[in-house]
Amino acid sequence: MSGLGKGVTTSSIAKLLQLSDQKVSCIKIDPYLNYDAGTMNPVAHGEVFVTDDGGECDMDIGNYERFLNQDIPKSHNITTAQVYSSVINAERKGEYLGACVQIIPHITDEIKNRIRKIAKDEELDFLIVECGGTVGDIESLPFLEALRQMKVEEGPQGVIFVHVTLAPSLDVVGEQKTKPTQHSAQELRRIGIQPDFLAVRCSLPLQEKTKQKIAMFTNVTASDVLSCHDAKSIFEVPQMLYDQGIMDSIFTKFNKVGMLNASANWDKWNEISQKMVNHEDQKIKIAMVGKYVTLADSYVSVNHALKHAGAEIGKSVDIGLIDSESIEDYSILSNYDGILVPGGFGTRGSEGIINTANYARENNIPYLGICFGFQLAAIAFGRNVLKLEDSNSTEIKPDTQNPIVDLLPEQKDVSDMGGSLRLGANDVQIKDGTNAQKIYNSNVISKRHRHRYEINKQYIPEFEKNGLIFSANSDDGKRMEMLEIPSHKFYLGVQFHPEFNSRPGFPEKAFSAFIKATSEK
Ligand code: GLN
Repeated sequence: MSGLGKGVTTSSIAKLLQLSDQKVSCIKIDPYLNYDAGTMNPVAHGEVFVTDDGGECDMDIGNYERFLNQDIPKSHNITTAQVYSSVINAERKGEYLGACVQIIPHITDEIKNRIRKIAKDEELDFLIVECGGTVGDIESLPFLEALRQMKVEEGPQGVIFVHVTLAPSLDVVGEQKTKPTQHSAQELRRIGIQPDFLAVRCSLPLQEKTKQKIAMFTNVTASDVLSCHDAKSIFEVPQMLYDQGIMDSIFTKFNKVGMLNASANWDKWNEISQKMVNHEDQKIKIAMVGKYVTLADSYVSVNHALKHAGAEIGKSVDIGLIDSESIEDYSILSNYDGILVPGGFGTRGSEGIINTANYARENNIPYLGICFGFQLAAIAFGRNVLKLEDSNSTEIKPDTQNPIVDLLPEQKDVSDMGGSLRLGANDVQIKDGTNAQKIYNSNVISKRHRHRYEINKQYIPEFEKNGLIFSANSDDGKRMEMLEIPSHKFYLGVQFHPEFNSRPGFPEKAFSAFIKATSEK
């Protein structure tokens, strides 16, 4: 079921293979009918993760990038819609030469082709395919069927299956229940897939007798029934699986016995994962103000990026999620060491963000505004410093007299909402002598974008006369990418999304600078 930890299990196994000097990558299959995650509500589905090549992907792609410290292209997030679109387009072109086009074999072939193409094009040693959904769901059936066929075609030493299941503890003595695992393994077998490993989610380590019992009823060797109990941090999961012998078993199953076994590069990873552990006595408090705060996963990459930056200076970051729609008393923000406004869309909650950006400026509280948080910081400055009271974004108020933020010119004729924002990595030019230049120690950086609106250049001279500098731009100065207020302790806005480039052990520089500023007295 969702939320069980399939993404972390996938990433952890991939990490162990990478630590064993194997060339590895991951794929996420989402069996829904959206073409990509771009049109989905982050409160229901979690963050939309943007890749370098402009994909609007499931947030698991972010997990893979963070664990592997490796960019993942958008082709690695396969959805039902993409598969069906290709098949239907090919049918319209007449490519099936009169055949009756069916789920089996045409849809299943398309799924297998996509998987094999990635493995081949990227010359991978191992490719891990994570299939979303629950075993038995109607919508994931064609994918499971394609995966079943792959094992037949590649042979038993070409494909192995890892099934992630749950062993809940219901009573006070904490007896671990095996029935959900037994039944889902049975359901999987009914589809024709016998798992090679079971990754069993549980709160406390799986007891030996529980492993034996699960093994007996699922046909999985007891040593391949893996305990995936709660960890202090998700980055400890690779070690947890390794300690249970998963690597020897994987290499045996793939007939690659004698393979170097995660030894060479293990220390560096453990050093990074140790740093990510909670520092109870060293906490930085960050207020995250936005409208998607009811689900912590809505801004998952921002949460991670803050933690990576904290770990760099031996501190933990406590994130207070504040709903920009209901905030009334802005003085609660003074209880925090820093204020962060992440990306967002639409009118709801925008006034709360504008006031938050203004409160941070007036009270000299470190502020980092990302995308919407950048745009609305400029609007706050327009209203309160430039005294342009009607300052707004045309996204929020189309008829505003002072459209400080306006639609990108190339968006004027766009009517489809899906996949049509300014997406993916673009170069950003940073001006000499700015704080931005100090932060990035460079004049050009490549950052990921996801927006439809931008700063209206007409207002720039007024801003700069009054102490707010646009310190970076892109496309030969066509659009503004960063703003800063040099007289402020730390006030930075970025049109791009720095959170997608942050990795454990390698925090993104804007986050590092922000977190450092929050701990300076
Ligand atoms: N809604 C804004 C825009 O479309 C900001 C987008 C974002 O924060 N990702 O430009």
